[in-house]
Amino acid sequence: MASHVVGYPRMGPKRELKFALECFWDGKSSEVELQKVAKDLRISIWKQMSDAGVTYIPSNTFSYYDQVLDTSAMLGAVPSRYGWNGGEIGFDTYFSMARGNAKLPAMEMTKWFDTNYHYIVPELGPETKFKYSSRKAVDEYKEAKQIGIETVPVIIGPLTYLLLSKPAKSVPKTFELMSLIDAILPVYKEVLGELNAAGAMWVQFDEPSLVMDLEVHHLEAFHKAYSFFGGLNGIKLIVETYFADIPIETYKTITKVKAISALGLDLVRGTKTLSHIKTHGFPSDKYLFAGIVDGRNIWATDLAAASSILKDLETAIGKGKVVVSTSCSLIHTAVDLANETTLDDEIKSWLAFAAQKVVEVVALARALEGRTDQAYFAANAAAISSRKMSERVNNEAVQKSVEALKGSDHWRATPVVVRLDEQQKKLNLPVLPTTTGGSFPQTVELRRVRREYKSKKIEELEYIQSIQQEITKVVKMQEDLDIDVLVHGEPERNDMVEYFGEQLQGITFTVNGWVQSYGSRCVKPPIIYGDVSRPKPMTVFWSKYAQSLTARPMKGMLTGPVTILNWSFVRDDQPRSETCMQIALAIKKEVKDLEAAGIQVIQIDEPALREGLPLRKAEQAHYLEWAVHGFRITNSSIKNTTQIHTHMCYSNFNDIIHSIIDMDADVITIENSRSDEKLLSVFHEGVKYRAGIGPGVYDIHSPRIPDTEEIADRIRKMLAVLEANILWVNPDCGLKTRKYSEVVPALTNMVAAAKLLRSELANTK
Ligand code: GLN
Ligand code: ZN
Repeated sequence: MASHVVGYPRMGPKRELKFALECFWDGKSSEVELQKVAKDLRISIWKQMSDAGVTYIPSNTFSYYDQVLDTSAMLGAVPSRYGWNGGEIGFDTYFSMARGNAKLPAMEMTKWFDTNYHYIVPELGPETKFKYSSRKAVDEYKEAKQIGIETVPVIIGPLTYLLLSKPAKSVPKTFELMSLIDAILPVYKEVLGELNAAGAMWVQFDEPSLVMDLEVHHLEAFHKAYSFFGGLNGIKLIVETYFADIPIETYKTITKVKAISALGLDLVRGTKTLSHIKTHGFPSDKYLFAGIVDGRNIWATDLAAASSILKDLETAIGKGKVVVSTSCSLIHTAVDLANETTLDDEIKSWLAFAAQKVVEVVALARALEGRTDQAYFAANAAAISSRKMSERVNNEAVQKSVEALKGSDHWRATPVVVRLDEQQKKLNLPVLPTTTGGSFPQTVELRRVRREYKSKKIEELEYIQSIQQEITKVVKMQEDLDIDVLVHGEPERNDMVEYFGEQLQGITFTVNGWVQSYGSRCVKPPIIYGDVSRPKPMTVFWSKYAQSLTARPMKGMLTGPVTILNWSFVRDDQPRSETCMQIALAIKKEVKDLEAAGIQVIQIDEPALREGLPLRKAEQAHYLEWAVHGFRITNSSIKNTTQIHTHMCYSNFNDIIHSIIDMDADVITIENSRSDEKLLSVFHEGVKYRAGIGPGVYDIHSPRIPDTEEIADRIRKMLAVLEANILWVNPDCGLKTRKYSEVVPALTNMVAAAKLLRSELANTK
């Protein structure tokens, strides 16, 4: 049986590409130096796959920034403002589109399906002139060939490309992006022609959009595109799908397209993929690239179980017709377990990062030919059973407490309007109370203190004093600014998930488990491997200290269970909802302890709630149901007078507004300014919001300092759709990425604007 890998991380095992890019952007290295690092990375990856014995090795999965941007470059789809003169697209134009330049902002960036990878959104219109403008796919194919490695060039397919695009600003509302299909296909065909001439035998078109809910005309465009490509001699097309199963109607349509030689299907997230194949058959003229090794997670594949599925598939489809593959590009997992120095051997044996997954794919393919590597399979079986049985995974007390959850654990007993009244009696806040998101600027000095404490260079006492000093400074500053509900500034936290993950049992961390988030930016998701519990309070010490410094209410600051879940590698041996409930119960303990310590306002951040939303509509309601329950469990049994805030970093929540209301928080602060106040439209449409709400009054992503009148205007717009007695005044999000020189004047203006509006309101009474 043959083997295939959909795509491979491009950043390098130690983030070599990141450092090379940032050095180049800083003007500290040349184009040639950057290109050299990139080439070395590509070659080492191809060699690694070739040595492992992969049959179909991908090329063109490298990128200097993003594969969608690469596709825009290939098609010459450069918005005119970037002043491109029409030749082969160079670093200048490419990085201006990706990151902006001195005169222009970058193009918009958004999440790649339901992953944490962000792509650059193509901007297209009727006037976009498509023209073959980047030979990257061909160059990389030739580069591999030069070292004797035959590869499969990977290109984002035309349907997915158009579905991920947005109309340029000037374009009339009636414009249909899909109408550009005829204009882009000739460029694609030119690329195919060049690849063919260079000797490529296969080309992989990534079409993850096929897993979405599509309309008939999308499928027609798909059919048209691949039939148009089909006429080429000697080049075979793989259409690769991932992140879910394909809706059955789509499955029926695409399996009929003659020009496609192989179809890649996700058997991990695609829970219905097998049943589609069994019930509706698989076309005899195609290969099935069976995505059985999970590209989205870090767990070792259960090789025995995978082999048996693959055997069944081969029986159903025919000998030699099944190719073992990854469920999606390995770009979404960590790079190489070999670089993990702090994980113990037991946990390590349960894991497989990209480098290990490549080996798994090949081992599975060989086993199906009867060439089983007995020792490797035996070690895998032992690891799989150790993971199942381990006491570190199974905590009976935690499992019991989840089972014991009852109705009243899911709700606060008193309705929010009553609670708000009782809270106000204690808190005594002015109308339009002011607050902030939680974090204050993270200075170089703070980072040093945390780093040195972690590496045991400084004593605990010194660390505590430094953090307390910082808290004291931040509290004093907020009092001087006359903010109503204060925060401690989160100086003890590196990251809002890591901080809690490190203190919760059942969660562990890597040292090099980086995953690309966008451009050169990477994240290191925690690994949730076992039942989650909280051995001791995590934040009470700092919050209590902060509260002791002021008579004003101090917000306790926690990360919610859904966000911890969505920003981690999650165990795959139980439903995500179950893991969420365990984390919720752990956070609930923290909420109770904060309350007992005299903290009257507790914020539980859920910025990642929305991104866990399943891709297909039919599955969304179920997710929202358990996610919202998870949040509510954290604060179901507290006093009416304890005020629960939550925070979200996005505003396109119009479609999930009812779930947000269902979270039953007392106050929500939410991003609003960055997205041109789209948020407010939901209230225009008549949705009634009764709890407290603080739509952000300024964008914290930019160093720009908004003036008082501008903020006051924003508040006036909010007052037009929301009652004054529920409105809060706060920035879009936390302030950790800003400088004090920006934060102080911005917050000064924010408080001034709130006061201005208070007096306007008083005068109109
Ligand atoms: N409390 C966090 C902060 O202020 C919230 C961050 C977030 O929503 N991403 O930094
Ligand atoms: Zn935020």
